[in-house]
Parts: sequence; structure tokens; C-alpha cells
Amino acid sequence: MKYLLIIGDGMADDPVPELGGKTPLETAEKPIIDQLSRRGQLGSVVNCPKEFEPGSATAIMSIFGADPLRYYHGRGPLEAAAQGIALADGDMACRCNMVTLEDADKPYDERRILSHSAGSIDGETADELISQLWASPEFAALAREYDIEINPGSSFRHFAVMHHADIDGIRLIPPHDHLGEVIGPLAPSGCAVAGKLDALQRAAFRFLDQHPLNVIRRANGLLPANSIWFWAEGTAAILPDFAEKYGHSGEVVSAVPLVRGIARLSGLPAPLVEGVTGEIDTNWDGKCQKTIEILSRCDFAALHIEAPDECTHNGDTPGKIQSIQWLSSRETGPILDWLRSCGEDFRILLLSDHKTLTSNRAHGGDPVPFLLYDSREQTCSGLDYTEANGLKTGLFVPQGTALMDMLFDA
Ligand SMILES: [Zn+2]
Repeated sequence: MKYLLIIGDGMADDPVPELGGKTPLETAEKPIIDQLSRRGQLGSVVNCPKEFEPGSATAIMSIFGADPLRYYHGRGPLEAAAQGIALADGDMACRCNMVTLEDADKPYDERRILSHSAGSIDGETADELISQLWASPEFAALAREYDIEINPGSSFRHFAVMHHADIDGIRLIPPHDHLGEVIGPLAPSGCAVAGKLDALQRAAFRFLDQHPLNVIRRANGLLPANSIWFWAEGTAAILPDFAEKYGHSGEVVSAVPLVRGIARLSGLPAPLVEGVTGEIDTNWDGKCQKTIEILSRCDFAALHIEAPDECTHNGDTPGKIQSIQWLSSRETGPILDWLRSCGEDFRILLLSDHKTLTSNRAHGGDPVPFLLYDSREQTCSGLDYTEANGLKTGLFVPQGTALMDMLFDA
């Protein structure tokens, strides 16, 4: 028996007026996903407990069977795990995004944040800017004083680890949920560590705003990576062992450090496929081939596609629809062909982890549709994979932590 989990990050949405009142899932042509949905079970699930801001950290943890209410101590440590960064007692890990603040003749605090990803900046430029920033005299002196280190990630996603950091009461804000807003009220707050992070963000803006690479980016019509943004703080994380819990094991394919970190902390390897970006220009075929390769030697594989979520944050509705279509045609299709030819029965769980809303480019915590397909039995929901159809069947799973038992038919 083979077991396949496919996650289309943030592909669920609310109806969009510009799409004639349909959602992107209802608009996209995705015949292979719809075929699985029609021949299998379709339902709705809540992956984000209402106690937390909706997002992939808690949603993906739930899907992999770790109850966020018990195991979630912040997103940073989950992502740090993906990089093999082990946190010591008293360490705080957080994300350090490259972001775009508006070009305007205004004080720092009155500027708006335009992009949480510096316009989906490429990895090479991002690494160059972040390395130069952390080596620049003013910034480096502050970082030494505050005992904070940077671990360059991929593209706009970098990580910081601060030692001996008491983050009780800290308030850091996810930048992708506040695009277009003035940054003053969004600054780190709540404790002494927050004040240090705020000082670092201001120093970063002074160094980066007129950096030659940003001058070139502006000249080329690209958004400058003119500041950094700390968020997703947390302390060391321990998750239940996946193989021990479910009696099945395998590997996880994802571009996103958060997802690879959750996998690794659950004891599942998460090999990085060359050319993946977490955006619509990712290596679609490489991820598909890697998933097939894992299934050929393990009984479980998980494939995570970030593009629908990033497209939504970027206000790119056609890109979101395209990425859903490619999830169907370039990932699910070829993997399904391989499964049908491998000589074993198989079960597939496919879902969106949370909603990402076109209306405000932020995450939503409503139930999301999931489909469960078994090659041995056709339960025949008769319905396409959409938000409304997922609710219509009456199959409602109040906690995403139940999903993996459903996939393994436990
Ligand atoms: Zn997102």
C-alpha cells in the first residue's frame, strides 16, 4: 500500500468578485484533482485552531498530527530545524524577511510596507544583501551587542537566532498580513528584546535603502529589498515521532523551510529539490519526480506546493489559478500515473492547509476542503474539489490532527 499526501498551500479562498463570484479553486481547470474528488470522499477540515492566527505553521503541524495547542511554541524554531540549526535553552529563533518599504519622503515610521518578500527577490541578490548587511559596521556592532546571528535562507526567507533572549510578552507581526499598512504601529513591541529587534530593523533600512543593488533593482522596475522584518519568534520545539505514531514512514518534498522543519522535527527527511523557489517559477517537474522516487522506496510521501499561497500574498490571481492547474496537471497527474502502474493499491489525501484570501492577501482560518481517494474503493462524492462542495457533503473534520489517521485508514 502506498500513501500520498498533497498540500496546495493557501489554494482555498473565498469567492472573488473579479472571478464572477467564484473562488480560484472553482475557476481553475484541474481535471485530475476533480476526478479524484468525484471518485473519492470529499469533506471539510479545520487545520488552524482558533486560538492562533491562521497560517501554515499550525495548519501543517495539525496535518502531520502534532496538535498545535500542545506543541506550537512559535514558527521560528520549526524553520530553524529545516536548516539543521539546533536551539539551546534560552535561544530565540525568528524569521528575518527581506521586505520592501515604500519609497517616499517620509520618516521611517510613516512608510508603508509594500512587499513581505521584497517582490519575491531572487536568492542570489537576497543572500548578497543580507550578508553585506550583517557585515556592515553599524549593523554588525548592534548584532554583536545583542548577541544575535543570521542564517541566510533562500530568497527572502532568512533566520535569526538570539542567545539568552527573554521573549515573554513580545509582539512581532507577520508582514504578509499587513501589506500596504504604515509600519510604525507594526514595530516589534512588548519587551526589551523587541526594542533590540526594532533597532536592528531601523539600522537595516539605513544600510539597505540606497544600496547599489537596490538602486539597480529600482532601475529595472523591481521592488527594492530596502529593509528587514523580524517575525515568527519562538523557542526550542519538540514534535511527536511520525513513524512511531502512525507506523508508516517516508519523506517530505517542499521548498519551504517551515514545512521541512516540521517534517524533520517529526523524524521525516525533507530532501531539498534543486531549483525550488516556493513560488510559481519553482521546479514543478523536479518536485514531481522526487515524490515518485520517494514512493518507489517508501510507503509514504508528502508533496507541498507553496505557489498558490505566495501568488495570493502577491495579489497575483492569475498566478494562483495557474498554480492550482499545475498542481493538477504537473504534479498530481504524473504521480497518479506512476501509482496506477506500480502494482500496489494506494490512498491519497489532497488538501489546502488554510485559506489565503484574495480579498486582503492574508490567511483565513475557515474550514478548507480535503479529498481522500482509495484505489480499491470508489466512494464517489460526485463533486469537484471546491470549498463549497467540501462543506456540502457533510463530512466535517473539526481538527486536522485526525487527517493522517484517515489517510492511513487507522
Ligand atoms: Zn501564506
